[in-house]
Amino acid sequence: MAATDPDCLFCKIVAGDVPAEIVRRGERTLAFRDINPQAPTHVLVIPHEHFADAAAAAAAGTGLTDEMVREAHEVAVADGVAESGYRVVFNTGSGAGQTVFHVHAHVLGGRGLQWPPG
Ligand code: 5GP
Repeated sequence: MAATDPDCLFCKIVAGDVPAEIVRRGERTLAFRDINPQAPTHVLVIPHEHFADAAAAAAAGTGLTDEMVREAHEVAVADGVAESGYRVVFNTGSGAGQTVFHVHAHVLGGRGLQWPPG
């Protein structure tokens, strides 16, 4: 059975206990709009299963991070930002801005994106 954390906000979204604007449901992933969007498209892609960060999800060796990136692309296509370009971000660790310790890919698009990011 997939690991969950009863104290984790994103596990609660997966379970339907916390509402979210869901845009895609996959067999192992869920995509929903960020509550504090930083771009016209700002969607979070998460696995149903609880992993603290991208490195932990990748280390499981089940192809989950590949699937998250594929789902991120489908989100970008559906939102019409794939052709103009979009960004997929895995903040990893509090020093990099990670605040929710359930791995998530930010999908950002629909405006010009600066490099390097802040
Ligand atoms: P992090 O800072 O960990 O990389 O990203 C966490 C993201 O989750 C933030 O962009 C934040 O706005 C978003 N977020 C936090 N709480 C909620 C919530 O309850 N619902 C949704 N949809 N997004 C949330």
